[in-house]
Amino acid sequence: MRDQSIDQQDIAEADLVTRRGTFRTVAFRDPVDGNEHLALVLGETRMRDDVLVRVHSECVTGDIFAAMRCECGEQLDAALDAIVREGAGVLVYLRGHEGRGIGLVAKVRTHVLQDEQGLDTVDSATALGLPVDDRDFGPAARVLAYLGVRSVRLMSNNADKIHALERHGIVVASRVPLLIEATDHNIRYLTAKRDRFGHDLPHLGTPAQHG
Ligand SMILES: [Zn+2]
Repeated sequence: MRDQSIDQQDIAEADLVTRRGTFRTVAFRDPVDGNEHLALVLGETRMRDDVLVRVHSECVTGDIFAAMRCECGEQLDAALDAIVREGAGVLVYLRGHEGRGIGLVAKVRTHVLQDEQGLDTVDSATALGLPVDDRDFGPAARVLAYLGVRSVRLMSNNADKIHALERHGIVVASRVPLLIEATDHNIRYLTAKRDRFGHDLPHLGTPAQHG
């Protein structure tokens, strides 16, 4: 599949000093979904193979406010830490991915159903007539192509995300697990990710243990 590329007028780059160190920020407006996304780049990644990459879906509650019902914020932290340890890598932060693409209001509505009726993340979306995963990973592929990354080691537990990136022409050399410890708060979410989406979460044990 041949993708559109990002227009120069829709992209801006600058250095960004963070508590973890200085990243190159690449902000871009995607030509297909129209959202403004961000890539954080550390070290040399252009024309490199096996670049450590995280493609992270926006989760305001988890990423910004450290919500414990999902593990998004911890995955974001762990991915950035891993890139810093490696001394090189790319974190692509995808906007418009709240609740796997249903939006923030709808996501919070699913939380009500989860809390009051015990539905999981899939059934609560379905009950509202919403798609269970409506995310487009094309913007991530387009910015990785723009950055000249030749192949990636993708930090993810989700095989579907690899397939989605590959469909957009990204070479995924390998997958690096990004496992966050289960707690009383996130176990239902992690279990649903494993059992409903097939995420590879071996640290949760066998399905019977939490069935
Ligand atoms: Zn989240």
